[in-house]
Amino acid sequence: MQEREKAGSWLAVAAIGNCGCWPACFAASCRKVEWGDADRPRVTYFCAMTQTLELAPETVTDRPLWPAMGRGWRRFCPSCGGGPIFDSYLKVRHSCASCGEELFHHRADDIPTWAVLMIVCNLMGVGLLFVEFLFSPPIWVHWALWPALMLPLTLWLLPRVKGSVVGLQWSQRMHGFGGQDTKARISGQSPAGEP
Ligand SMILES: [Zn+2]
Repeated sequence: MQEREKAGSWLAVAAIGNCGCWPACFAASCRKVEWGDADRPRVTYFCAMTQTLELAPETVTDRPLWPAMGRGWRRFCPSCGGGPIFDSYLKVRHSCASCGEELFHHRADDIPTWAVLMIVCNLMGVGLLFVEFLFSPPIWVHWALWPALMLPLTLWLLPRVKGSVVGLQWSQRMHGFGGQDTKARISGQSPAGEP
């Protein structure tokens, strides 16, 4: 019985341990920098692992965040929602076939993988503990059940989360998604056509 409990504990650690430290990681490694001007104030959170998260305030409404992320979740272009965002399973298209919006500016990198890991491992970790405490099935049931649930859920979530991340980056004009307008504002110059 003792061995069995030990095996169950290691299963739980393996399931939830990979993502359990992220709040401490985030708190310790992020710093907030405010920039931009009065018309378009911006906030950037610089994090470890070279990822940055830039958030625009509610005053910037020409690219609403949630509709863009929703279109990305459905694996469509965050700008028009008409053309597919992916060329293949996870390869983002160079540009939208429907509206021509440039999509290659995205830098989703490992954010989708990290987010999917966090979602799936926490769901499965909680499920594993519930099943163990409520039913105490033989250990082979855990080995058969959880990988069979994790794999399809992970494969289902990955492109949807990646699409949402691209939608977020497009909406917040991150990386190259802002075009000349944002580049000029960052460098302190007026965008073309403005005094
Ligand atoms: Zn489009």
